[in-house]
Amino acid sequence: MTDPSLPHMPLDNFRRHGHELIDWIADYLETIEDRPITPAVEPGDIRAKIPSTAPATGEDMGSILADLDDVVMPGITHWQHPGWFAYFPASSSPASILGEIASAGLAVQGMLWSTSPAVTEVESAVMDWLVDLLGLPPTWRTDTGPGGGVIQMSASDCTHTALVVARDRAVARGASRDDVVAYSSAHAHFSLEKGSWVAGYQHIRAVPVDSTFAMDPAALRAAIEADIAAGLTPAFVCSAVGTTGTTAVDPVRSIGEISREFDLWHHIDAAYAGSAMVCPEMRHHQDGLELVDSYTFNPHKWLLTNFDCSVFFVADRAQLIGTLSIASPLMSNTASDDGAVVDYRNWHVPLGRRFRALKLWFVLRSYGADGLEAYIRQHLGWATEFTGKVESHARLELVAPTTFALISFRHAGGDEATAALADTINASGWAHITVSEADGRPFVRVSIGSTWTQKRHVDALWDLITNALEEQS
Ligand SMILES: *Cc1c(COP(=O)(O)O)cnc(C)c1O
Repeated sequence: MTDPSLPHMPLDNFRRHGHELIDWIADYLETIEDRPITPAVEPGDIRAKIPSTAPATGEDMGSILADLDDVVMPGITHWQHPGWFAYFPASSSPASILGEIASAGLAVQGMLWSTSPAVTEVESAVMDWLVDLLGLPPTWRTDTGPGGGVIQMSASDCTHTALVVARDRAVARGASRDDVVAYSSAHAHFSLEKGSWVAGYQHIRAVPVDSTFAMDPAALRAAIEADIAAGLTPAFVCSAVGTTGTTAVDPVRSIGEISREFDLWHHIDAAYAGSAMVCPEMRHHQDGLELVDSYTFNPHKWLLTNFDCSVFFVADRAQLIGTLSIASPLMSNTASDDGAVVDYRNWHVPLGRRFRALKLWFVLRSYGADGLEAYIRQHLGWATEFTGKVESHARLELVAPTTFALISFRHAGGDEATAALADTINASGWAHITVSEADGRPFVRVSIGSTWTQKRHVDALWDLITNALEEQS
């Protein structure tokens, strides 16, 4: 069927290599535990294995695939390793991988409904499913409510978008662009600060936190009142539901009430913890969502869907679309002009968009609500048990409450002992954690939630820690 005058791989070869590649991925996942999590390479080692110029003539796919093992694997950090307790998980799953492959196979652009109707309609349906699965306000559904959800690349993009809409809204109400102010807690993710200056805010406030590292609403109110007295226009406030450092939870309802009183756009950054809301018992952590204008969370962190898949919900899509729509004759089409359809190009900065909803759709269907709930709840349970062990160990102290599946602790003997403990864990090769800082002092973060992690890995990590503490003394 392939025209031999074209330079493409014959489709029969594609079929064969495709099967080989799936086998390769399955073999990788089956044996991942046997590999050291971090690669033993120096800067430039991988590059040195790659010719400095592209091949003049086409190479055989067999030898290209072989270089996955020879060139790539030696420099891979195994984020899918079951001993991955670092950062937050970067999840994936067999269903998600298949969705990703199908998306690449179709290679369509979904910037408009008309450029591939299924891209838009599957995405809208899956976003509406999530509203129910996570117990979000029903008015955020695209089909029946004024709100809606859209998939973006990252939570940083979603937050940046929210900042732009908030700025635009304040300016439309008479503020000067130079005077708008954005607020988030001193423990907010740096995407808040970065998004603010990219969106042109000249006034960015880090609001003080309480002893659990959650934003102090009284301090927020004081900051807003001081800015108004100085002639500025408070425009945006972010509540974090699960900060990156310690998964602190800002008081969403109190911050929402303040946002309504002073007319600020209220955004929620639940990048990590949003996935936990598949469990109804977690939802009290974000009580007050009816006082929220936008919300982001990353299925690519904890909901079995590989990067990139960050969800952005708005309570009122008209404001978002009003800010981000640009008329263009090239984009004109009857369905759009009649207002009959959703055109996601008007929901974010990029024009082109790939079929990212496919992998999330595959995941939600493959696991089902029950499967997702059980999956998250098991991590929460392991984290609770681990926390109890930390609390009852004489040489360890918790740095923050364990609200989700991140345990933050340090060595009671001081910062050097904490650093030494972290080094010992990471030197094991099979368990990997990150060190962060709170109140100017380092602490160990154990983040449970990698796709292939089982209870035995969490128990083994605890044994590793207790043995290391024995040897330190
Ligand atoms: C991980 C994280 C982010 C950034 O997510 P990206 O999708 O990588 O941009 C933002 N906020 C919080 C609270 C996070 O944990």
